[in-house]
Amino acid sequence: MIATGRRMNATGLNQGTSGNLSVRVEGGFLLTPSGMDYDALVPEDMVRMRMDGTYEGHREPSTEWRIHRDILATRPEVGGVLHAHSMFSTSVACLRRPIPAFHYMVTRAGGEDIRCSDYATFGTEELSRHVLVALEGRLACLMANHGMVALGATLAGAFKLAVEVETLAAMYWRALQVGEPVLLEPAEMRRVLEKFKTYGQKPARGS
Ligand code: 13P
Ligand code: ZN
Repeated sequence: MIATGRRMNATGLNQGTSGNLSVRVEGGFLLTPSGMDYDALVPEDMVRMRMDGTYEGHREPSTEWRIHRDILATRPEVGGVLHAHSMFSTSVACLRRPIPAFHYMVTRAGGEDIRCSDYATFGTEELSRHVLVALEGRLACLMANHGMVALGATLAGAFKLAVEVETLAAMYWRALQVGEPVLLEPAEMRRVLEKFKTYGQKPARGS
């Protein structure tokens, strides 16, 4: 988790003490502490939370613990959650626009677009509710005037998807400078979703 937090900032996906990370563990989840530099973190700073919101450890948990808890409680396939204030995803989110089907890779987030959640104050139950709605049937969403969230079976998977979403947001942003990007048809996005089911290397024969 600490390595991912540092990588998140070193690669420009996030800045300062913004953003937070969680990993599902037996009986609950581990969460990054609130307002601490990722560079200064040691393993003991991680907060061990139960699903009822109670926690152990000597640090205050991230203010966004509800988002992490609510995602992990409702999405059994998810093992890692990443929230970041990445430049282009957040810029698009400030326009309160989704990332539409302007590129086939949008399907990597699970559907034909990447939604933008409604706005609510950071750290509130209301924000968590909005994020859950925007994530329905998806593995990532933008958060209005705030940032983005990416999910994965593992934290590494969530990080990889966050990089993908940020790249798409940067491409979309640039395309918008020149005009309205041409969107792919829903039928094409469905075809791509199908194709990705068998994309990549097949398992080695006999394994
Ligand atoms: P925390 O430092 O409390 O995790 O908050 C950062 C953030 O991004 C709030 O939305
Ligand atoms: Zn935030």
